[in-house]
Amino acid sequence: MGLPPVTTHQLYINGEFVAPQSSATIDVIDPSTTEVIGRVPDAGAADVDRAVKAARAAFDAGPWKDATAQDRGRVLFEIARIIRERAGELAELETHNTGKPIVEAEFDIGDAATCFEYYGGLATKIHGDVIPVPDNAMSLALREPIGVAGQIIPWNYPMLMAAWKLAPAICAGCTTVLKPAEQTPLSVLALASSFEEAGLPPGVVNIVTGEGATGAAIVEHADVDKIAFTGSSEVGKTIMRAAAATLKKVSLELGGKSPNIFFADADFDIAVEGALFGVFFNQGEVCSAGSRILVQRPIYKKFVEAMVEKAKAILVGPPMDRETKMGALISREQFDRVRMYQELGKQEAKVASGGGRATGGALDKGYFVQPTIFYDVDNSTRIAREEIFGPVACVIPFDTEEDALRIANDTYYGLAAAVWTRDIFRAMRVVKNLRAGIVWVNHMQPTYVEAPWGGYKQSGIGRELGKWGVEEYLNVKQVYINLSEQPIGWY
Ligand code: ADP
Repeated sequence: MGLPPVTTHQLYINGEFVAPQSSATIDVIDPSTTEVIGRVPDAGAADVDRAVKAARAAFDAGPWKDATAQDRGRVLFEIARIIRERAGELAELETHNTGKPIVEAEFDIGDAATCFEYYGGLATKIHGDVIPVPDNAMSLALREPIGVAGQIIPWNYPMLMAAWKLAPAICAGCTTVLKPAEQTPLSVLALASSFEEAGLPPGVVNIVTGEGATGAAIVEHADVDKIAFTGSSEVGKTIMRAAAATLKKVSLELGGKSPNIFFADADFDIAVEGALFGVFFNQGEVCSAGSRILVQRPIYKKFVEAMVEKAKAILVGPPMDRETKMGALISREQFDRVRMYQELGKQEAKVASGGGRATGGALDKGYFVQPTIFYDVDNSTRIAREEIFGPVACVIPFDTEEDALRIANDTYYGLAAAVWTRDIFRAMRVVKNLRAGIVWVNHMQPTYVEAPWGGYKQSGIGRELGKWGVEEYLNVKQVYINLSEQPIGWY
């Protein structure tokens, strides 16, 4: 028996799947087996232009221009309903394309539906202000959609990141051109096949697949009003520079090297699990991964030992197996990168567990690595400073609260942080002094569509999710209405 034929997908533009002008294609693989599971166009500038024109027309001329907030809300709820209806199929596709455990993919698909539902509800709650002015006049601040949004997303949560981008844009009344990561285009293309059924008019959402150059063409396009990007800090900076040429509004959700801080009074067993969950969830391929684990000296040794004990039990396995707790890394490139840091860590610190490729049986074919814990890590080393984006934990000891804060904030990043203690006064002092956009107390990673998400420092600009997320897609128009019939009286 051979493999099923590999489908070559098309671009989704103006409400239909269309053949690209570009003849170049990208092989999409299952990283747990390295088999090719699909092929997508590597769209060129002409394809991007076609998608932007469709988005522009839908925004400027209609039908989206005339859609009411209720209309937009209903479409969002319909997309959510269809995602839930197709959840099994979408989760399997996501697992095959990313290598993440099926149970985690199921969470992601559910979260994506929840995101569309949240913004479905918010659509009818966006309103402006009436401002008191010292004349017989009315001053209004209207909230209007910013226009065509270019949206560029990464490979770690393909469907969820698409939801975080598309839902607030649709909610605000924007139209979009979205580019999934070249490694993981399949789930959002599958969803696009249901957009018509959901009542989304042609041109409102357009999906173009391709590599970095395709993303760059979106950023450079003069008819795109705003760029929303999630990915590496390096590419984020490139995008910001490129967006300056046409002065687009940008929102950037970038990398991190987030501290997870454990004081000696924390509930020990829960804390140890929190340390592992914070850094190893989704193979560590998480922008908010708690990759720097700061542990107070009195519990340090015991904590590292307990982490090692529990880490040994993390089942690295085939992603479709429901028992699997850690799947494959996304690509050869990422596998090589993580392996490089595993080796570097052996020179820069001490290995507590892992440190190599995960092998045996089905694992030999794919990009699997061992969950890895380094200890006695100095915060100045490369493994403690550079974002690894894999299951590699750096455990760093500290003495006092001041030490913990100094080490935690000694990074160019500022996406997330967590603090574990039973002392509420200490918890709140630490929360106040951490320079990060998201801070958890006695947990790490819970993320809610209702609450803001985004970074301080070089982890980003702008906020996603909640009412903050939709702001990124809105413009403010100030309107003055003269209520006086008196002459102006100047000339
Ligand atoms: P990662 O390191 O997680 O792969 P990247 O920042 O390289 O993250 O990629 C995130 C997204 O940005 C992907 O969709 C990728 O194709 C896109 N991208 C890469 N380079 C550029 C660029 N110069 N301009 C616009 N998009 C880009």
